[in-house]
Amino acid sequence: MSGFLVQVWRAFCRAVIFRLVSPSVDFVAFGGTIYVRPGVTLRAHNRAHEETHLDRQRQVGQWRWLWRYMTDKDFKLKEELAAFRAEIEAGGDIDFCAHYLSSGVYGFNLTEDEARRLLQK
Ligand SMILES: [Zn+2]
Repeated sequence: MSGFLVQVWRAFCRAVIFRLVSPSVDFVAFGGTIYVRPGVTLRAHNRAHEETHLDRQRQVGQWRWLWRYMTDKDFKLKEELAAFRAEIEAGGDIDFCAHYLSSGVYGFNLTEDEARRLLQK
């Protein structure tokens, strides 16, 4: 595809993705691309989180990764823990990460303290 068509395709994906996912999600990483909600800035620690998802998708296969992420809570938790640990290592705030990880966004049955303990492991 030409550069222009790639841009149009990504804009289309971004529009669809952010209508489908929770309003509390600002970034989605899939298929080698980090989609950023319009009006939101991707900072270095956000990029570290999303790059972790992209690396794992390359290892597992992107569609297989997506299927497991959607259907297997343990897999999803493992993937998010790896991504949030990378985020913290890149300067992200552990309190924010623990709060977000334990919020309704992911549907994990975790308290903020449990999330913080898991992130520190
Ligand atoms: Zn994530």
